[in-house]
Amino acid sequence: MQYADSCSIKVREKLPPRIERLTDLAYNMWWSWHQEARDLFKMLDYAHWRSTNHNPVRMLLEIEPELVQAAAQDPLFLRHYDAVMLTFDRDLGNGHLWFPKAHPDALPGPVAYFSAEFGVHQSLPVYSGGLGVLAGDHIKEASDLGVPFVGVGFIYSQGYFRQRIPSHGWQEAVYPQLKTEYTPLLPILDGEGRQVRVRVRLVGQEVQAALWRLNVGRAYLCLMDTDVEENAPWDRGLSARLYGGDREMRISQEVVLGIGGVQALRALGLEPHVWHMNEGHSAFVVLERMRELVEKGLSFEEAAEKVRATTVFTTHTPVPAGHDAFSFSLVEKYLRHYWDLLGLTREQFLELGRYDGPEGPRFNMTALALRFSDYRNGVSRLHGEVSRRMWHSLWPERPEDRVPIDHITNGVHLPSWIYGALGRLFDKYLRSDWRAIHDDPTLWERLDEIPARELWAVHQEQKRKMMGFIRERARRRRISGEMDPDQVLAAGAFLDPEALTIGFARRFATYKRATLLFRDLERLKRIIHNLHRPVQFIFAGKAHPADEAGKLLIQQVYGMAKDPAMGGRIAFVEDYDMHVARYLVQGVDLWLNTPRRPYEASGTSGQKAAMNGVPSLSVLDGWWAEGYDGKNGWAIPPLEDGGQDAQDAHDAEFLYRLLEEEVVPLFYSRDADGVPRGWVEVMKEAIRIAAPSFCARRMVKEYTTRFYVPAARGEE
Ligand SMILES: *Cc1c(COP(=O)(O)O)cnc(C)c1O
Repeated sequence: MQYADSCSIKVREKLPPRIERLTDLAYNMWWSWHQEARDLFKMLDYAHWRSTNHNPVRMLLEIEPELVQAAAQDPLFLRHYDAVMLTFDRDLGNGHLWFPKAHPDALPGPVAYFSAEFGVHQSLPVYSGGLGVLAGDHIKEASDLGVPFVGVGFIYSQGYFRQRIPSHGWQEAVYPQLKTEYTPLLPILDGEGRQVRVRVRLVGQEVQAALWRLNVGRAYLCLMDTDVEENAPWDRGLSARLYGGDREMRISQEVVLGIGGVQALRALGLEPHVWHMNEGHSAFVVLERMRELVEKGLSFEEAAEKVRATTVFTTHTPVPAGHDAFSFSLVEKYLRHYWDLLGLTREQFLELGRYDGPEGPRFNMTALALRFSDYRNGVSRLHGEVSRRMWHSLWPERPEDRVPIDHITNGVHLPSWIYGALGRLFDKYLRSDWRAIHDDPTLWERLDEIPARELWAVHQEQKRKMMGFIRERARRRRISGEMDPDQVLAAGAFLDPEALTIGFARRFATYKRATLLFRDLERLKRIIHNLHRPVQFIFAGKAHPADEAGKLLIQQVYGMAKDPAMGGRIAFVEDYDMHVARYLVQGVDLWLNTPRRPYEASGTSGQKAAMNGVPSLSVLDGWWAEGYDGKNGWAIPPLEDGGQDAQDAHDAEFLYRLLEEEVVPLFYSRDADGVPRGWVEVMKEAIRIAAPSFCARRMVKEYTTRFYVPAARGEE
C-alpha cells in the first residue's frame, strides 16, 4: 500500500530540502502531543498557526515561500528542527516501549478499535464529544506504549457541526465542508495508484467507501468515506454528518462502520488479533466476522465462540435511550441476506440482538455487542454497577452483581492535556522525563517540592491565556459583524482575571443539568457580586441538533450570560471543541459538574482539569465517585431517596453551600504574597490523584493486560 498523495507532495515541494521533513511531521498527528513539534510550527509562522487553529498541513500549503526559505537558513530554527526530527524518528522506531517489553509476542496482529468518532485534534472535526475524544486519547496512548493498534471509523465530510449562538440564544448549526487537502488524511492507494475502496451491500445496491489513513504516532486510523462519485446521492451523504439523519441513515452508517470496517482491514491485508468495539455503533463487526468464519466452514456456534473469545466491548451510556436499537423490520430490510450467510433462520437472527425495552422488542446494538464479546466493560466503577443492573435481563440466571460486565475507568492522554508552563514546572521539580513515567504514583509525591508561589504563578499565567483567548474570539466575532453588541458581554469579554472562575463545559444534555446553578437567582447573585470575593462562571457546550431540550438549556444559560444584572460574570463561549476545552481545563480555577446521578458514565473533562491543578466541584458520579478523596476538590453527595425534583433541590442547596462556606473563602484566603496557600494544597492534591490514576496510560495498560492479551490467545 502507498499513501503519498498529491497534497503531501505539494507540501513537500514547497519546502527547501533542508527542512522538507516538516511534511512527515505535519502528516503524523504525533506533533499534536509533543510540545517541541508544536513549537517548531509556531516558530515558522505564528500568525498563520493561530489563524488556522493550529493546522500545520494547511499552514504549510499556504505559507509564504520567503518564510520557509528564511527558516531553512536560520540556525536557531534548524537546531530546533534537527532535535525534533531526532525525537520523532526515535519515537517512531521501537525504542524502549512498555508493551513489547511487558508482553513480547503477545499480539502478532494488531488490536482493531472501532469507533463512530475519533477526537484526535480540532483540525480534524470527526468527533462530537467525550466518546470521540476518549477514542483519540486511547489511540495516542496505544502509540506511546507500543501496543500494535489500528482504529477504524469514518470521515464525515461535514463533520459534527460548528455552533453559532445568535442574540436570541437558540443554537444554530453550521456545517462547513471538510477539505481533505487541508487535513493530514492520506488516501490509501493500491498498486496502480487508485484509492482503495470497500463495497458494502445496502438494500439491493452496493455502496462504496474510499479508505483514508491518519497517522497517529506509531498507530493509525483507517477512515472510510462514502462521498465518492460512484455512489448514489443518498449513499454519498451517508458519512456526511456525525449522528445526523434518521433511523435509516443511522442503520446504514452502522452497517458500513461494522461490516465495511472489517472489509477495510482485510483490504489492508490485516489480521487483527483483538477486536475492540467502542460503544454499540460498530456492533455489526461481530456479524461480519462470524460470516467470514462460517464461509471458512465453521458452524455458527463455532464461529460465535471464536468471535466472542477475541472481542472486547466497551459500553458508555447509562441512559437507556442512548443505546441504539432498530425495529425488526428495519433490520430485516438491511440485513436480510445475513441470516442465510450465517446459516440461521430469520427468527434466530433477530434473537442475536433482541432486547425487550419499553417500546417492545427491538434489535439492540448494545445487546448484540454484549452477547458476542467475552470482555465487556463500563467506563467507571459506578458505571460498571449501573451497566450490570441495566443489562441484567441478558443473564437472568445470575444475581445482579455477577452479571459479566466489568469496568475500566476512563483516563485522558496526559501529554495532550498538560503542556506549556505547567509542563515546564514539572520538568523542573519532578524530573525531566516525568512524562515517560507519569502513571507511577510515587513520581507525584514530589509535587510537595513545588513552592506554592510558583504553582500559583503558573496557574495565573494559564488563566490569563484563557481569558486572552476568550476576549480575542469575542473581538473577532464582533468586528466581523457576526455578533451584536449586547452579545459581547455574554461572550466573556469582561471577565475579571482576578476573580474566582468556575468552568462548566460539556454537551448540553438534560441529565447534565447545566441550569442547576440558576435555581435560586438571588442567592447566585449574592455569590457572584460579592465586592471583595467575586465569582464568575464560564459555560461552553453544544446540544445535539435534534435535541430541543438541550437547546433550550443553552438558551437559558445564554440569557443569563447576556443579562446585565449578572454583571458580565456569566460567560458562554461558543463552539466548544478540543481547542476551547484545552484552554478551559487549563485556565479556570474550578471545574463544575452537576449531572443527575448516575447518568454521567465517566466525565473525562474533570480529569483533564484535575491534572492541570483545577479541582472539581462535582456530584459524586462517574469518575468522581472513585476519584474524590476529601482533599482534592468538593463533592455533592447523593440523596438516597426522593424524586428528581427533590434531588435537584438537594444538589442545588449543596452546591450553593459549598461555594459560600468552603470554596470562596478558601480561594480568597491569601498569604502576605497574595498566594492562596490552602487552595494550592487542593490543586496539588487534584494533580496527585488525577495524573497517575486517571490518565489514558493507566487505562490502556488495563485494557491491554486484562483484555487484549488474554483475548489475543483466543485467536490461536
Ligand atoms: C473531554 C471532552 C469532552 C468530554 O467531557 P465530559 O466531561 O465527558 O462531558 C467533550 N468534548 C470535548 C471537546 C472534550 O475535550
